[in-house]
Amino acid sequence: MEATLVLRPGRDKSVRRHHPWIFSGSAAQIDGTPSAGATVLVTSASGERLGRAAYSPDSRLRARMWTFDADTVVDEALIAGRVVAAAQRRRDLAAITDAMRIVFSEADGLPGVIADRYGDAIVVQLGSAGAERWRDTIADALMALPGVRCVYERSDVDGREREGLSPRTGPMRGDGPDSETVITERSYRYSVGFTAGQKTGFYLDQRDARATVATMAAGRTVLNAFSYTGAFSVIAAASGATAVTSLDSSGSALAGARRNAEINGVDVGEQIEGDAFAELRTLRDRARSFDLIMLDPPKLAQTEAHVARATRAYKDLNLLAAKLLNPGGILMTFSCSGGVSDDLFQKVVAGAALDAKRNMRIVGKLTQPSDHPVPLSFPEAAYLKGLILAAE
Ligand code: SAH
Repeated sequence: MEATLVLRPGRDKSVRRHHPWIFSGSAAQIDGTPSAGATVLVTSASGERLGRAAYSPDSRLRARMWTFDADTVVDEALIAGRVVAAAQRRRDLAAITDAMRIVFSEADGLPGVIADRYGDAIVVQLGSAGAERWRDTIADALMALPGVRCVYERSDVDGREREGLSPRTGPMRGDGPDSETVITERSYRYSVGFTAGQKTGFYLDQRDARATVATMAAGRTVLNAFSYTGAFSVIAAASGATAVTSLDSSGSALAGARRNAEINGVDVGEQIEGDAFAELRTLRDRARSFDLIMLDPPKLAQTEAHVARATRAYKDLNLLAAKLLNPGGILMTFSCSGGVSDDLFQKVVAGAALDAKRNMRIVGKLTQPSDHPVPLSFPEAAYLKGLILAAE
């Protein structure tokens, strides 16, 4: 008999609204002995069948819905079909890039599965017991997509231990990756080190911001803080910036930025290796100033519990950036912490501007691009927010 997760009274509401997460506190009982990643039938307290979910016995996030139709069978065909459908939904993006997120977890009906395409290579991250259970099906489906030569696993980022899974990296299907993978996005090319880089190797989610930088850099001096491999720096330099400074704490990220400058035939500009919180202060103490500043820190609030501390860090960074901005300058400031709402982020930045005694206006907003979609039933998928601010 199929194992069944019975919800507590009243806890069926979010499932009925097609929200995919069932926390441990919502589960009244488990009938049967499902293993980690097994598919369980989900019912309301009164026994109404609501759908099927992947069971995660070791996680606070006890089950993630595969389907909200209890008559749908969760099998290889369903999982593989979702991978193919997710890839197809991105087909318009191929006109501008050969690098895109082709599977974005819950947003594509595949909780715990992230797959990023870099040319003919796909980098996959399996972050839940349910995703792990279907690893071969997922790997085969990705490998079978048109033009794919290899599937590489980077299941070493975010959350696996919360699911009772150990990190895992290495080739999954096809040839090992080339020593260097170069992707093309619009008129730029970037080297992506997906076997060792951060995330799966490139910040695909900043694609729209990259396009915006191209329209704002001409004639300006630019500071790219948290530059990683210098995508914003390359675009700024190629778009007519008069000088570009890249700041990052990672020496290998700055080396990647030098490589990207070389590939695109632009001057790499000034590079500063160090902690942004300290280096921005040093720049201020040296009376340096810039016409365009990008501030794109890593996720400062890893979970909801870290929001208060993260808020102080965002305030500190934005205060320093506001002080470094020339009159008439532009600040592009980001947060990729899901736990920090758009509203809270804007308030923090407003507080920073006030303390810096700078009048600033929002002249644009940025968010994650179309390959990182947000289901209406799952607003938690939205995590990236950016404000474009013009200073007086
Ligand atoms: N804007 C980049 C992505 C930035 S990711 C892009 O579009 O590609 C965040 C970067 O911040 C990483 O490169 C990481 O090395 C760097 N970083 C993390 N903590 C830092 C700190 N305290 N000071 C400076 N850089 C830091």
